[in-house]
Amino acid sequence: MEIISYDEIKDLKFKGTQVAYAVVCERKLWLFSKGIALEHTSDRVSLGKFLDETSFKRQEGFSDDNVSIDFITSEEGIIIHEVKLSKSLEDAHLSQVRYYIYYLRGKGMTVSHGILHYPKLRRIKRVEFNEEDEKALKILLSKMEEILALPSPPAVVEKPYCRKCAYFEFCYG
Ligand code: SF4
Repeated sequence: MEIISYDEIKDLKFKGTQVAYAVVCERKLWLFSKGIALEHTSDRVSLGKFLDETSFKRQEGFSDDNVSIDFITSEEGIIIHEVKLSKSLEDAHLSQVRYYIYYLRGKGMTVSHGILHYPKLRRIKRVEFNEEDEKALKILLSKMEEILALPSPPAVVEKPYCRKCAYFEFCYG
């Protein structure tokens, strides 16, 4: 697979959610991106409720047309923070945060690293973004372009978390 150039990638307008879905399920990425809005919001609602009820609500977030970052802090550079309720899709969470780092750096911001917060588990995880991570992210973004160019959704590939997915009935009904 050809890896697209940095300049091309900077023009991409993916949302962080799309990057996470690309890791979770290519079909889910396609359905979500094409506006097939069966995505229930229970996870986001419960996360929003949780954030409102905790000290996280006092933190300053960052959002534009593409990305919506839970909150950012600054030390020697910006630190990107994402809050998640569960670790079950940690690889997707890591890719999402790395995309945010990449995205903001592409806009000329000095970003140090990211932090994933799992408050219900009382855990945090520092997210670095090195050359290998950048290479892997570029491959993922390139793959996303390919998936979204498909005229129909990728086939169902059964996964352990399908039953919890909002598209479950759509895929298996
Ligand atoms: S139900 Fe499974 S196959 Fe269908 S979109 Fe969700 S994760 Fe993908």
